[in-house]
Amino acid sequence: MLIVFIGPPGAGKGTQCRRLVELFDIPHLSTGEMLRAVMEQDTALSRYVASYINAGKLAPDHLVMRIVSQKIKSPDCAKGALFDGFPRTMVQAQMLDDLLTELKRPLDVVLELRVPDEVLITRLLKRAKIDGRADDNDSTIRERLRVFHEQTKPLVQYYGAQGKLRSVDGTESELDVLATLCPL
Ligand code: ATP
Ligand code: MG
Repeated sequence: MLIVFIGPPGAGKGTQCRRLVELFDIPHLSTGEMLRAVMEQDTALSRYVASYINAGKLAPDHLVMRIVSQKIKSPDCAKGALFDGFPRTMVQAQMLDDLLTELKRPLDVVLELRVPDEVLITRLLKRAKIDGRADDNDSTIRERLRVFHEQTKPLVQYYGAQGKLRSVDGTESELDVLATLCPL
């Protein structure tokens, strides 16, 4: 079972994915968390990654692909995986398709969490106070939303054309969103 989960920053991808991986018993592959783990080190690579993320930009495609392709080939992912916040660009989506074709493991479904920008800004500013993530501040949040509309939103059309897209309203409560994502 291979699932892609896309949505704007602050849509609640991480929250929903933590519940979905328990239900489906597959690993959670959050590129955001993997990149934050890289940033915790004190290396040239970590400073390179931070220069993108802390400015509200996306990390470079080649770097993200290298991390993801390593993970997906590991034994933990034999039963499948839930990709959280990946792919985020058309290049990543096409590279993922190529990789999965090579591995003969097609994507099952792409879940899109939809939340209007005004709600996202409110949520992210609130999260900034709680988690203190360096990329959750007013100007970076606006840049991340702009980048989402420009680079990630086109994936909705791309996966829609493949007949794989399921869009869900992400403004409801956590449990209502979960129930819509996996109706029992
Ligand atoms: P949510 O709150 O819905 O979990 P988010 O956008 O706040 O979403 P992450 O998915 O954790 O948080 O991503 C944090 C940052 O990591 C992004 O703003 C981006 O800079 C970088 N990033 C994450 N995934 C990718 C990716 N696939 N390609 C490029 N950069 C990425
Ligand atoms: Mg997240």
